[in-house]
Amino acid sequence: MKNLFRLNEKDLIRWMISFYCKENHHSTKNLCFDCEDLLKYAQERIEKCPHGENKPVCSQCEIHCYRKDKREKIKEVMRFSGPAVMRYKPLAGISYMIKKYKFRR
Ligand SMILES: [Zn+2]
Repeated sequence: MKNLFRLNEKDLIRWMISFYCKENHHSTKNLCFDCEDLLKYAQERIEKCPHGENKPVCSQCEIHCYRKDKREKIKEVMRFSGPAVMRYKPLAGISYMIKKYKFRR
């Protein structure tokens, strides 16, 4: 049960950016150049996160490792795709909420 709710943030971010790109940039199979770039950047940040497995969700992290321009962009993506996650990927959405709750300060 625990594993079921383990949040795969890399998968989630990929899904969110794809959804955003499809709806806003009318991409079909592949992401547009900008979104592809953003996805690579975001996944790299997750990989290099010093918190490792026990990382809080990025929006609550105190490090703020995203560069300013990327941060603005990812925020926009999350604002747009966030509600869709609950609709299309409820399990990931719930995992995210659990994690957010756990690390709440
Ligand atoms: Zn795009």
